[in-house]
Amino acid sequence: MKHPKEERTLVLIKPDAIQRALIGEIVRRYERLGLKLIGLKMVVPTAEHVEGHYTLDPSWRKVTGEKTIASYRSRNLPPPSEDPLEITAKILKNLKKYLTSGPIICMVWQGAHAVELVRKITGGTEPRTSPVGTIRGDFVVDSYVMSDADDRAVRNLIHASGSISEAEMEIPHWFEKKELIDYKVTHEDILYEKELRGILP
Ligand code: ADP
Ligand code: MG
Repeated sequence: MKHPKEERTLVLIKPDAIQRALIGEIVRRYERLGLKLIGLKMVVPTAEHVEGHYTLDPSWRKVTGEKTIASYRSRNLPPPSEDPLEITAKILKNLKKYLTSGPIICMVWQGAHAVELVRKITGGTEPRTSPVGTIRGDFVVDSYVMSDADDRAVRNLIHASGSISEAEMEIPHWFEKKELIDYKVTHEDILYEKELRGILP
């Protein structure tokens, strides 16, 4: 079995975050946690590549539609449709427009519980309801109500893999094996070694 410190997750800094000059802020938040950046590049993706990314997980269409319906219901608002797949078809069309509208930054972060901790720091899908202290909660104002009214994707600055299995499919979708660097950072001893050694003379 792999050590938990080997866990990897994919993060995309979306075009709106780059326009908002938030690259440094976003990288800082994952970096200061103790995660290690093992892959990094800037690209302008094609619509096909974006669609491929979101449809890697066959359940994504259903889950995303249902999540949207639940969010409307929790506010006592009627959802845009009762059919989750109809909702997601629209979201996917708009995501392709959103993510191809400018450069994005693709990153792979590695460390214990990387998938879960990156999601925690990133916040929930809808910035409006994302907790204070998360990236989506602290740096942007968007909501499903606004994005649906304007027929566009919700602008939430970041994509982060939702589960370990999602990460395992998404990383090879964006990176070739040789683009991921296997290296050590010195603070890994302090985070992961059984004994704290070599501190005192
Ligand atoms: P997350 O990015 O939090 O994992 P999802 O995988 O459910 O969220 O959705 C992917 C992306 O699609 C979101 O980050 C957001 O940009 C967009 N999106 C999701 N749901 C909606 C919605 N109801 N209306 C508009 N855009 C949405
Ligand atoms: Mg997702």
